[in-house]
Amino acid sequence: MYKELAAAKELLQQKVSLLHSLADTDELTGLLNRAALTRHLNQQMGSSRSSENAFALAFLDLDGFKEINDAYGHDVGDKLLRLVAKRMAANLRTHDIVSRFGGDEFVVIMQGNLGDSSAMDSLDRLIHQLSQPFHIGSLSLSISASAGITLYPQTEPIASDQLIRQADQAMYQAKLTGRNRVCMFNLDKELAQKGQHQKATEIQAAIAEHQFELYFQPKVNMRTGQVLGAEALIRWNHPTQGLLGPASFLSDVSESHQGVELGRWVIAAALAQMGSWHDQGRNINVSVNIAGYHLQHSSFVEELALMLAKFPMLRKQQLELEVLETNAINDIDQVSIVLAACKNLGVNISLDDFGTGYSTLGHLKVLTVDVLKIDRSFVKDMLSSQGDLAILKGVISFAQAFECDVIAEGVETLQHGQRLIELGCEMGQGYYIARPMPAVDLSAWTDAWQQSQYENKFKFTARAAGNKG
Ligand code: C2E
Ligand code: CA
Ligand code: CA
Repeated sequence: MYKELAAAKELLQQKVSLLHSLADTDELTGLLNRAALTRHLNQQMGSSRSSENAFALAFLDLDGFKEINDAYGHDVGDKLLRLVAKRMAANLRTHDIVSRFGGDEFVVIMQGNLGDSSAMDSLDRLIHQLSQPFHIGSLSLSISASAGITLYPQTEPIASDQLIRQADQAMYQAKLTGRNRVCMFNLDKELAQKGQHQKATEIQAAIAEHQFELYFQPKVNMRTGQVLGAEALIRWNHPTQGLLGPASFLSDVSESHQGVELGRWVIAAALAQMGSWHDQGRNINVSVNIAGYHLQHSSFVEELALMLAKFPMLRKQQLELEVLETNAINDIDQVSIVLAACKNLGVNISLDDFGTGYSTLGHLKVLTVDVLKIDRSFVKDMLSSQGDLAILKGVISFAQAFECDVIAEGVETLQHGQRLIELGCEMGQGYYIARPMPAVDLSAWTDAWQQSQYENKFKFTARAAGNKG
């Protein structure tokens, strides 16, 4: 009687564990399923956060599986998944855990304290194995896989679903960088991206709160004293940090939606300021800085046209776009089309920071440019560095050959100004002439400059020019 009872109990236990394993198994491949994987993960992570429990978690996704399914049908697709599962299991160590997470996604737990490079190596080998052809009947099918890995434990406590998300994110990175490869999840990078995202959101709010302001820095003809206009330079009146310059926030919105928003704000604010000066009887030319990614935004020209149309009293040439050359070069064909369209609208174009890009010469031929702006790094050392002087001379003769104007930025001393005039660059901008100032100060500055400041600051040059003429 007792024996029978024991046998019945054993049978029952077998059935229960069979049921368990059925519930844990992915029907198609025989691997663990998602639920079982998650349970395993929670168990392993729950026990303790010591390095004895260390493991690497990999998330794999097949490249091009859908195409095979579409081309050969689901039967072949299913067979392929089975073969992939088999090959994965065969190429991992016995105590590693491999699961089908869903569709053509697999999650692997590689046990042990592997470290970055050995986890990457193991996965690289696996990925390589998976890229070898699979044979189904007479078919020879080639696919590949992209994988992301993350390591456990980490410096901060982490939940199992977060860990899977990290590996998934790294896998996505692997897809982006060309598939058939492995990427390691990088916590620092993610934190940096999060920080950047948060700053971008702050900047969005600051636009709505009217915390941005344009400062204006005059541009003059240093030989004649004539005021040519001003460059608009963005500032942030930050509620807690005070007045911030562009270096401290523009990079946070680079290439982003908020960056484009800010760029739009700059153009609109510059036009509004020009309109208000116009109403006071002053027509001041203003240049605005345009980031390359903003210029390449699909509706840039259309939006510019709409903004210009709101100020019919202004001449279109009063607005100048200063294009950052280095940004403009990544898609030169598109940029030249956009610039030509801007020219058609009537605005002026200048190339900012000229001389710093690597293929400056090539661009000039294709770009429709009115002004070259010599980067202040060359101006800064022109009096002491023969190399910088040579570049400066080169840019000036360049501008002459292509019949565009040339202006030097960063004129910090009279000597810089004088030497530039001698070299044939009469237009200048820089601290020696004036620092960037709030819009309200520009009229008074202009009057003072015309009355006496120019004479005072450039008297030797003015006299020399006077003697010449
Ligand atoms: P940038 O276009 O080269 O602007 C000239 C920068 O040089 C300005 O710095 C100006 O204050 C500074 N500067 C002018 N004269 C002198 C001088 O004699 N010596 C020295 N050492 N510096 C001088 P800021 O305002 O900090 O702007 C920095 C950069 O930020 C600008 O360089 C421009 O690339 C960017 N930026 C400024 N405003 C805007 C904007 O509204 N939109 C975009 N996309 N970029 C902007
Ligand atoms: Ca500029
Ligand atoms: Ca510049």
